[in-house]
Amino acid sequence: MLTNDQLDKWDREAFMHPSTHLAQHARGESPTRIVTGGEGVFIEDRDGTKLLDAFAGLYCVNVGYGQTAIADAIAAQARELAYYHAYVGHGTETSITLAKMVLDRAPAGMSKVYFGLSGSDANETNIKLVWYYNNIRGLPEKKKIISRWRGYHGSGLMTGSLTGLELFHKKFDLPLAQVHHTTAPYYFRRPDLDMSEADFVAHCVADLEALIAREGADTIAAFIGEPALGTGGIVPPPAGYWAAIQEVLARHDILLIADEVVTGFGRLGTMFGSDHYGLTPDIITIAKGLTSAYAPLSGSIVNDKVWKVLEQGTDENGPIGHGWTYSAHPIGAAAGVANLKLIDEQNLVANAGEVGGYLNAEMRNALEGHANVGEVRGEGLLCAVEFVKDKDTRTFFDAGDKVGPRIAAALVKRGVIGRAMPQGDILGFAPPFCLTHAEADTIVAQTREAVAEVLG
Ligand code: PLP
Repeated sequence: MLTNDQLDKWDREAFMHPSTHLAQHARGESPTRIVTGGEGVFIEDRDGTKLLDAFAGLYCVNVGYGQTAIADAIAAQARELAYYHAYVGHGTETSITLAKMVLDRAPAGMSKVYFGLSGSDANETNIKLVWYYNNIRGLPEKKKIISRWRGYHGSGLMTGSLTGLELFHKKFDLPLAQVHHTTAPYYFRRPDLDMSEADFVAHCVADLEALIAREGADTIAAFIGEPALGTGGIVPPPAGYWAAIQEVLARHDILLIADEVVTGFGRLGTMFGSDHYGLTPDIITIAKGLTSAYAPLSGSIVNDKVWKVLEQGTDENGPIGHGWTYSAHPIGAAAGVANLKLIDEQNLVANAGEVGGYLNAEMRNALEGHANVGEVRGEGLLCAVEFVKDKDTRTFFDAGDKVGPRIAAALVKRGVIGRAMPQGDILGFAPPFCLTHAEADTIVAQTREAVAEVLG
């Protein structure tokens, strides 16, 4: 068996990691953790360290680690038929079954699902479909996409553009010209501390209206947003936000893409975030929770209105010129079918809502009184603690102080993985749905200690 030292050396020499400080890592200045196993909410590394993964990988291992029913379904599918493509009307029993299961769970009015591999490629598909849709409707100028600052929609060329985080644009020549960002629905970071929540919603709506007026509604095709902001800071929307935004979009014939890569399949305690906040999207992006990351699979769900135009388009132009070799890959589909069954059997959506409510309440009780905790917020099994230098004036720490990453590191030392969110000093939690109350207590207790170590 290879030693850890050998693997560490090869890692530095050969492996380019995503979202990593490449130079520091190659020089050996940041640790390599070699993960070997997982069970429930815990992962284990080669040194034998066991950690409570309170971020479920990248908020994706929703059913928890070590679910053998999914592993068995993957193995059975691989033995029977590891691959066949889905082009020109081909399918497999699992991919067709999964499409039906997804539609059965989706919000009302959704019509078909196209399967990809990642959240990023699903959003690339969505934008292509939106452009195709307006070309078929005879509106070739109506192509721009509105996204929000702090939205996260992937890291491809288009999806990295949709993402509204500086790190994903800087030095990559992004965003592309077709993408425009509007105000993040982030009440804690409102421009004026005296603004009420309702005033802040009106401010977001006014900014959106101004953007539409400036660019011209006849040039804008779609608006994309996560029901609750994820990577941008784990921020549930202010009350009334989605109703007000949807009214504007409908008035200007702008499609709504709900990016449910994080919120789809139960994270907010409802099957979809759209159900939770009353969204009626035209297109929904799904990934992570579709298979709980046991195999890569994503999807674009389109509603009847979009589907009808896509049908018309192929009648006029021939087969749709879009597809990946691995679209609807049978192994991913097998993982998806087994995963959705497990979510039902183990009642995990309800558990996410119930234990999530408990985790958020306990986190608030434990930390809200701390002088450097500006806000504790969350919904379902999403929770975030935002740190500030001065609470009364809402003064933030300098990014160079690395307060968020230092608290996340102090927490790992105590056996719990949280995530230092990329923009701001925000510690995020998104545990697997099988989390127990006792495990939630551990997350809260260790977070309090980690905060005390770094901030006193
Ligand atoms: N959309 C949202 C809301 C996400 O959170 C992510 C990833 O975190 C993506 C899209 C991109 O998914 P992937 O990393 O699978 O490409």
